[in-house]
Formats: sequence, structure tokens, C-alpha cells
Amino acid sequence: MQEIILIKNGELALKGLNRSTFESVLVKNIKRRMRDLGGFVISRSQSTIIIEPTEESFDMDEAVERLSKVFGIAAFQRAAAVEKDMTVILAAAQEYLEEQLADISTFKVEAKRSDKAFPLKSPEISREVGGALLAKFPHLTVDVHNPDRIVTVEVREKAAYIRCNQIKGAGGMPVGTGGKAALLISGGIDSPVAGWMLSKRGIILDAVHFASPPFTSPQAEMKVHDLLAQVAKYSGDIGLYTVPFTEIQEQIRDNCPEELFTLVMRRFMMRISERIARREDCAALITGESVGQVASQTMLALGCTDAVVGMPVFRPLIGMDKDEIIVRSRQIDTFDISIRPYEDCCTVFTPKHPRTRPKLEFLEQAEQALDVENLIQRAVDGARFEIIRCTF
Ligand code: ATP
Ligand code: MG
Repeated sequence: MQEIILIKNGELALKGLNRSTFESVLVKNIKRRMRDLGGFVISRSQSTIIIEPTEESFDMDEAVERLSKVFGIAAFQRAAAVEKDMTVILAAAQEYLEEQLADISTFKVEAKRSDKAFPLKSPEISREVGGALLAKFPHLTVDVHNPDRIVTVEVREKAAYIRCNQIKGAGGMPVGTGGKAALLISGGIDSPVAGWMLSKRGIILDAVHFASPPFTSPQAEMKVHDLLAQVAKYSGDIGLYTVPFTEIQEQIRDNCPEELFTLVMRRFMMRISERIARREDCAALITGESVGQVASQTMLALGCTDAVVGMPVFRPLIGMDKDEIIVRSRQIDTFDISIRPYEDCCTVFTPKHPRTRPKLEFLEQAEQALDVENLIQRAVDGARFEIIRCTF
């Protein structure tokens, strides 16, 4: 019996005229994600995407695992695809659903018939399939109001599809429908989650990481790689710029008031990231900040960081508590990587008493002691680029 996957779009269905473009991007993303799993074809009909394996060796379980990480899919189902013949449909339902009906006691059948030439109407199909299942599985009874499972039989153009499962998808919008943004990624818990959240809204990610060797270690950079590789399972490939930041941090340490170290540093990060972002056609920056988490993330401090940027800064975690962020990071499997104990450049030269109510003019004054433009240019020129691939 041929098993296939049916994908029905939740949010996508709402997008009016854009729907077709969104669906095309989604289909492209699905194809790319599954291309090494064996032969299959993808077709679209009536806001349903159908994946049909064309080779025995197609790995259905792995396909399900990967699909659950593709943004733009609210839910999907495995189904048996059979010939549109009532005898075949009844026998197939008895065989295909055996395992899924074994541990429940009530069910109902819902039939849908988009092929109006099929001789039976939907209620008749439901009745016959229900009867066949009751005959084969005596432990079951029908409950049309509150069944343990709903068996669905769809008679479409090419085949009849039988299923009784629903697998939750990752939700969101297909990656590529929302443009591109640059994620400032540290190695901590927050920034990978922030990137994941905007990728979920259809945005392609580039990433910028600031490294300050020898104060920060190769292991810290490896951690960033591993974090991005995990996010890439959802977002697709991520271009990563690793920016040399040692000179800037030393200059700040030697020339600026200690209480402003962190904020001056953060303003450099934003300026450099914006340069890279513009070159890469990114329309926004993304950070993992949330209000009040640390001194540099008070509302006034965030205002001072934003003052140097001329593009939107997305902070999807802005109103989240740390424990809420941790729940998400566990769910997307970045938490265990994030807690590896390697120092980030943010924790090098941290002031003992950072300003929590900074004034913009003090920062601007402090920065006059630095050759800001040249420092930025050298950092941008020294950035190393690589692509972190989506692999499974
Ligand atoms: P995270 O878990 O993301 O490290 P955090 O609570 O440690 O968050 P900070 O270290 O203050 O926060 O950094 C705030 C944000 O600044 C990070 O979420 C990230 O977007 C950015 N950032 C911090 N350090 C770096 C870095 N070395 N490279 C790139 N971006 C950074
Ligand atoms: Mg951090």
C-alpha cells in the first residue's frame, strides 16, 4: 500500500492573493529539505500539498521528523493512498488503520468527496467504512460526538486517501517569504531563540558573531557554529560573519569610562552589524535582548544602542522572562549547547557598576576618544564569512 503525506496549510490559507507565492516557497523549502531521502514527487491541489514517495527506500519516518521543522506547516498527516474503488478502500482502511485504532475505543468516520463522479456520496462512504472497521475491530464503537479518533477518507481526483492522525507542524510562515535579517548571535541562551522566532515568521537569517581572541576561545566560536546548525534545521542555511572584536574592546577599555564599557561596545556591535546587514540586503537586525535582563537591557540603555542604527532592530524576546526563553530553547534543542561554559566577548572587561540609566550625550562624548569609523571599517574588513548548512 502506498503511503503519502498530506500537508494542509493553516495560516497560509488566509493570505488571499499571496497564497500561491507562499505555497510555492513552501514547496521549494520542503523539496530542499527532503531531497536526500529517496525519490518523491510533490503536487498541490486545493490548498493541500501532497508528497508521494516514488521509491521503496524513501524514509517516511525521517521525512516526518524533518517536516515537523519546516515553517509554514501548521499540521500534516500520513495517509494511505489507494485506488478509488470502494472494495479497495474498505480493505485498505482495515489494514492501514489497525495500529492506530488498537489502543482506542471510540471513533467516527468523516468522508470528503471532491471527485463528484465517485458513485457514493460522503455519508455513504462514511457509513461503509465505519461498518468495515466495526466488523474488523470488535473492541471499537462509533461515537459521532466525542470520538477518541476521527478516521478521514478523502476521495480526490487522483486517489482516495485514508488517515486518522494529525502531526503538529512548526507553524509560522515559509522561510523566504519575509525577506532577510541579520541575527547578532552570542553563544548564550537568548540569541538562538530570537533567531528561531523570526525565522518562524518567514525571515531568512544571516548571523553576525563578535569574537575577541585570545580573550574568547575557539570553543566559543564552535559553540556559535553548533547553535546555528541547530537553528538551521528550521531556518535553512545561515550565512555567518565572524567579526574580529579584540581591538575595539581593548580601545574601549583603554579610553572610555568603565561604567560605559558595555554600552559603547554594544553600539559598536550594532553599527558593524548594520554595515554587514546592508551589504547582504538584510532589512533588519535581530538581538536576543529582553527588558531589564541585564544593565545594558534597561529601556534607556536599549534606546542608546538603537540610536546608532538606521534599520529596525527586532527583539522578539523583549517581554519574555528567562524561564520562558529557556522552555523554548529546550524545545528547539539549543539549550544544552548554550550552557557550555565558554566566555563570550560580552563578559570580557565587564564594568563593576554599569550605568542602568545612561544618557546618550555621555556615550557620544565617550566615543569621541575613539577612531570610531576606522575601527568599524577594520572590523568589517576582517570579518570571516562561512555558510552554516542545514543538515540532519
Ligand atoms: P544571549 O543568551 O543571547 O547571550 P544575554 O542575556 O547573554 O543573551 P547579552 O550578552 O547582554 O545578553 O547580549 C545581548 C544580545 O546582544 C544578545 O542576545 C545578542 O543578540 C547580542 N550579542 C551579545 N554578544 C554577542 C556576540 N559576541 N556576538 C554577536 N552578538 C552578541
Ligand atoms: Mg550573552
